[in-house]
Amino acid sequence: MAEALDRLTVLRHALGESGVLFRNRAALERHQDRLAAHHLRWVAAHSAFTASRFLGAGLALEQWRELPPVGKPEMMAQFDTLNTARLRLADVLAVARRAEDTRDFTPTLPTMRGPVTVGLSSGTGGNAGAFVVSRAERLQWAGVVLRHLLPAFPLGLLKKQRVAFLLRADGGLYRSVGSSRLDFRFLDLLRPQGELAAELSAYAPTLLIGPPSVLRALLDAGATARPERVVSVAEVLEDDDRAALERGFGPVVQVYQATEGLLGLPCPHGHLHLNEAHVHFDLEAVGDGYLRPVLTDLRRTTQPMVRHRLDDLLVLAEGCSCGLASRRVLRVAGRQDDALELPGSAGRVTVWPDFLRGAMNRVPGLREYRVEQTGAAALRVLLEPLNSELRQEACAQVRRALERSGADATGVQITVGPLPATPPGVKRRRVRRLWKGALP
Ligand SMILES: [Zn+2]
Repeated sequence: MAEALDRLTVLRHALGESGVLFRNRAALERHQDRLAAHHLRWVAAHSAFTASRFLGAGLALEQWRELPPVGKPEMMAQFDTLNTARLRLADVLAVARRAEDTRDFTPTLPTMRGPVTVGLSSGTGGNAGAFVVSRAERLQWAGVVLRHLLPAFPLGLLKKQRVAFLLRADGGLYRSVGSSRLDFRFLDLLRPQGELAAELSAYAPTLLIGPPSVLRALLDAGATARPERVVSVAEVLEDDDRAALERGFGPVVQVYQATEGLLGLPCPHGHLHLNEAHVHFDLEAVGDGYLRPVLTDLRRTTQPMVRHRLDDLLVLAEGCSCGLASRRVLRVAGRQDDALELPGSAGRVTVWPDFLRGAMNRVPGLREYRVEQTGAAALRVLLEPLNSELRQEACAQVRRALERSGADATGVQITVGPLPATPPGVKRRRVRRLWKGALP
């Protein structure tokens, strides 16, 4: 009974999406204003930390766009007074860690507003984030995702859909939309790849969802499937992976999803758009065309995200052929704190992760790699496979990328080594800055 009700709720949210697919920018912004007025009033009344931010800045609720942003560290430090379900961070962390250990990914905590699901996000320097969502928020999430991902919604629901998820954590989330027409299969990333590839082939999904590095590995392990759509989630989708997945499986679209929210969804023309019907984005320019989002989730109530700054780097595109008013994302280009900081002729310069990925994609025969900044002027380049030809070509490409970024390419020490196997379930980040010294 409860499940049938949930399915109806999900479907209602999915159908409701049609009403917020704005083609007119002014109408989209009016819609955001309406949501914000109602939402922020509620949040300020229930989240002491959010109310204190407005008070501290001397701003009225209507001036929310001017509120100084906060990031993950502040969110975690103020967790207990930020969330509106009177949850304590210590309890949330204990439940989330137990779930990771037992691989039972339906951990919930009872609250005065019903059970909430908890999750952890990885962070740099052990700076993990804790996230909580209510049942109602999960159902809404499922509805929105369903609407944007199922081929030819809602007619797509008339034929049987088999959705394969290759994810590290089994959100009870996905199960809430299962029905006779819509079947979900969760494939645990921690299982052996050969086994996963065989199960995926036998399942023959119509929709295949997972991190691009994992989908690629399954393709290489012999998985065969011809889904109507492949959906890349959780990692930067790089050109080489996109090309391989399109050849091997079929058309690829992207979902931009973080524990901070559902931030971007594919449009009918297959391009990624910001999820502006539900989330307000300010974009801060950080140089060279890269933008860093400050988001205000206009729906989320259990753990409000108000003027919350992400570490992500985005590159926007000029409009889209689909005609939607929401802005189009050309690339999610990684995280700002993974940008390398190297000596240049006039002080330190930033080398964006994108640049190095582009350089490495030009090395013929390279299967996988990692580029890490390990010191003020030191890089470690890990290659798979590793031979003298690849070593030479990779170094040359890296030095060229450094030069183009204005770094002192000859002054940077590059050491090359073999790439150790990535433990299954670990998110792939090909370019990382491990050295954190000398920066503000
Ligand atoms: Zn579009």
